[in-house]
Amino acid sequence: MSVVLEAKHINKYFKKPVLFHVLKDVSFQINKGEFVSIMGKSGSGKSTLLYILSTMDTDYDGELYLNNQLITNQTRDYLSYIRNKHIGFVFQFHYLLPEFSVLENVMLPAKKLAEKSHQEIESKAIEKLRMLDIENLAHKKASQISGGEKQRVSIARALINNPTILMGDEPTGNLDSQNSENVFDIFKDLSENQGLSLLVVTHDQDFAKRTNRIISMEDGMIIT
Ligand code: ADP
Ligand code: MG
Repeated sequence: MSVVLEAKHINKYFKKPVLFHVLKDVSFQINKGEFVSIMGKSGSGKSTLLYILSTMDTDYDGELYLNNQLITNQTRDYLSYIRNKHIGFVFQFHYLLPEFSVLENVMLPAKKLAEKSHQEIESKAIEKLRMLDIENLAHKKASQISGGEKQRVSIARALINNPTILMGDEPTGNLDSQNSENVFDIFKDLSENQGLSLLVVTHDQDFAKRTNRIISMEDGMIIT
């Protein structure tokens, strides 16, 4: 099994309003194709951890490896490249640009990466929309589609650059049970059939139980 993401002894402190040790010696690995959930009470440090793992937060101690490459203490430009190329992220709220079409929203991260022509990016985006069964929405404005559809679009957007790992911070937290189920099935398919690694924070026991492994957090520590 090849290791895709490795966290070694991650510690983080918030300095204000008072010094607070929010992540305490967090270490774990995620393998290729593994679908892992993170559970834990509100305030246990899940979002803080995901922000670090996704390179959005660089203010921590410890080491982070992606595809066996150290991504701690690298330049801002390099991290921005790594994040765009290798890490897909899905939030609880979709953050789509409401006045842009679904297709344009999905194309954005690939435009930013600027490794392919407009035509190639567009056909890639359509391929992702087809995979998520929402090709018919391509030319609608993001503001004109339902919540469940928006979350699928944000998954398509997160996949456009064929990332190594997809991370989600309560990606089904704002969805009804049918739409949550759909998102789960999409994630499961991506891990089983496309070898994508997934790391997803969830409060949903049923969702977590069906992933390959649950990481439980309490008070800034991993307890399983
Ligand atoms: P979770 O996602 O598990 O609910 P978070 O990672 O959001 O938890 O937060 C962990 C703890 O860190 C909480 O006690 C929260 O209040 C605190 N915290 C989060 N962000 C900040 C910040 N910017 N400054 C100070 N404390 C913070
Ligand atoms: Mg959180």
